[in-house]
Amino acid sequence: MSKTFTFKSHYELAIVGCGTAGMAAAINAKIRNKNFILLGSEFCSPKLAKAPQVDNFLGFPEIEGEELRQRFFNHLKEMGIEIVPWKVTNIYPGPPFTLVGKDQSFEADGVILATGVSTQKLVPGEAELLGRGVGYCATCDGPLYKGKTVAIIAYDREGEAEANFMADICSVVYYIPFYKKIGHLDERIIQKKDKIKSIKGSQKVEALILGAEELKVDGVFLFRENLPAEQLVLDLRMEKGAIAVNHQLETNIPGLYAAGDCTGQPYQLLKAAGEGGTAALNAIKYLDTLQENK
Ligand SMILES: Cc1cc2nc3c(=O)[nH]c(=O)nc-3n(C[C@H](O)[C@H](O)[C@H](O)COP(=O)(O)OP(=O)(O)OC[C@H]3O[C@@H](n4cnc5c(N)ncnc54)[C@H](O)[C@@H]3O)c2cc1C
Repeated sequence: MSKTFTFKSHYELAIVGCGTAGMAAAINAKIRNKNFILLGSEFCSPKLAKAPQVDNFLGFPEIEGEELRQRFFNHLKEMGIEIVPWKVTNIYPGPPFTLVGKDQSFEADGVILATGVSTQKLVPGEAELLGRGVGYCATCDGPLYKGKTVAIIAYDREGEAEANFMADICSVVYYIPFYKKIGHLDERIIQKKDKIKSIKGSQKVEALILGAEELKVDGVFLFRENLPAEQLVLDLRMEKGAIAVNHQLETNIPGLYAAGDCTGQPYQLLKAAGEGGTAALNAIKYLDTLQENK
């Protein structure tokens, strides 16, 4: 996170994800004058930026993904909407919901998940050992690993700052990057490059199996662009790998909505924009009912 943002303790609505779906949701929340926050990554969104040419976005024939991305940002800027670069690592259902990430947490009455889809599969053992040595925010759990050995699996550069932080606390930090151009890593960190086979342990993490090697570790942290939704919110109902929603974009948890690629195929910008806007309108209805019943 390039600048420190101090959250309010409470929002009416939190939108998690700053791609097409999240931005479309934010626009409707702003028009309806809601007290909301739009959360995302440092770069929103790599998928949109990578689209070489988009031919199917109504009103914008033959537009490059990057140009469309800039237009979305301009739209947000004109409306005074800020994207806060802060990765949510846990959401605890409420009401109100509690959203947790690096160094901070806050509450929101309603939440829209617009987190996109991950192209990386879960590592065998990851889901089973989540919270028992497996985590997605090393700096949040750092003190628990004082003098211990951890492995950091990073699919983007976000892992570097986390590994450097852990190097000051842990006795050994392994770093396993799955991206090119490593930036700055503390010299105490041991880099490894091999296929990740599994995370092992019965009650808690005991080892990481990397190729033919078994690394004895106490903790494993994974850094991906998109966290698996079912790991972000426990008991979230999934269907064929996507968040299960109805036509109102409601999930199985009251007050929790989902929109965009994270609700399943087709992975398309128009679907993401439409679902984002719709999820926001329905979340607002939910918030209004919540208010009336207070
Ligand atoms: C190469 C390529 C070409 C494409 N071409 C087309 C095309 O021509 N037409 C078309 O319709 N579609 C196209 N697509 C698909 C389109 O880009 C996606 O459908 C669209 O980007 C989905 O938007 P989204 O908002 O659901 O998710 P995303 O765009 O993936 O955005 C999700 C955002 O949420 C953030 N995020 C995730 N988890 C968290 C968290 N826990 N906390 C905070 N932030 C989080 C991520 O960092 C990301 O920025 C293309 C995709 C690719 C990769």
